[in-house]
Amino acid sequence: MSITFAPMPDDNGYFGEYGGQVIPPELIQIMNEINDAYEKVRQTPEFQQELADLNTDYTGRPSPVYYAKRLSEEVGGAKIFLKREDLNHTGAHKINHCLGEALLAKYMGKTKVLAETGAGQHGVALATACALVGIECEIHMGQVDIEKEHPNVTKMKILGCKLVPVTRGTQTLKDAVDSAFEEYLKDPVHYFYAIGSVVGPHPFPKMVRDFQSIVGREARQQFLDKQGKLPDIITACVGGGSNAIGLFTAFLNDENVKLVGVEPAGKGLDTGQHAATLTLGTKGAIHGFECYNLQDSEGNPLPVYSIASGLDYPGVGPQHCYLKDIKRVEYETADDQQCLDAFMKLSRLEGIIPALESAHAVAYAMRIAASMSPDQTILINLSGRGDKDADFVANRLGL
Ligand SMILES: *Cc1c(COP(=O)(O)O)cnc(C)c1O
Repeated sequence: MSITFAPMPDDNGYFGEYGGQVIPPELIQIMNEINDAYEKVRQTPEFQQELADLNTDYTGRPSPVYYAKRLSEEVGGAKIFLKREDLNHTGAHKINHCLGEALLAKYMGKTKVLAETGAGQHGVALATACALVGIECEIHMGQVDIEKEHPNVTKMKILGCKLVPVTRGTQTLKDAVDSAFEEYLKDPVHYFYAIGSVVGPHPFPKMVRDFQSIVGREARQQFLDKQGKLPDIITACVGGGSNAIGLFTAFLNDENVKLVGVEPAGKGLDTGQHAATLTLGTKGAIHGFECYNLQDSEGNPLPVYSIASGLDYPGVGPQHCYLKDIKRVEYETADDQQCLDAFMKLSRLEGIIPALESAHAVAYAMRIAASMSPDQTILINLSGRGDKDADFVANRLGL
């Protein structure tokens, strides 16, 4: 089997039949300007050097690849390794694309970076990047989420971004998206809308993937250096899909490496309370691009749910849809209970408290490792740390 992955996406922003620009004509022009600027700027030595320096000296890259010996022994079977994105400054992989987007906005001479946030993770990473780069930042957040996510709200305020509470509708993520987007449309020439995953209209799925692909490039080399071979399986959780595509990109042409994305099965795939978009979704459009969707018969997004708030999105990155169709990546699921079990196992056997999002990938790895032999290996993208989830899990388990 030989598949050509480059050039991906095509000139219209399509990965096979997914992606594109499902937006009004005046926005298509703006998006194409962003694409042109990105293609020009990213090739300049100044931009590359500035981003590379920030990745090392600010974020703390490269993040290590760690052999989880006690976890592997407990599970019995394949050896489990972790790519430690949880050790990045701000505690997750999101800083990788936020730095890229903030820098690009600065190079393009934009005056303000805008975004929505749900639980506040994207908001904090973006506010951090904007403080560093020295550009104005405005984050829209539902009032309900503001009351739930105190530490992140406080951090965003300290970091100096303008936090706009959204009091319409259900006062959660979807309303925050609408509100931030309205603000963006007031002056798209001078504002930059920083999308938080490999979703949205072209060129965002491509740009965010490129900024995240450092994860896989590092991990592939680190693994080769230490183990003298590539992993048998690499795996990552999938919300919008940025940390997974970041890991997978460097391995796409390694035919003997199995790639597995893990979606949240929530309370169960048959309960309607999940966010397993690639597993159960159908083709459609959402937020300016085409992908698999969890949608009703009229094409409206269905309510989605996961114990991990970073995974509950009814769409998914277009490149994942393509990779599923051509069968280069397999998509599996882990439910809330399996996620909690993995969260506690990793904490107590390795002293590493993972984000609930990342714990979905750990749950899958534990499940599959048991059926493999000790000379086989699995590499997990540990996308973030669990500080934000510690109180919630302790309450839920009565600790
Ligand atoms: C936001 C988030 C995710 C989900 O986003 P992707 O774009 O699918 O990577 C996963 N893990 C952590 C720690 C997050 O903060």
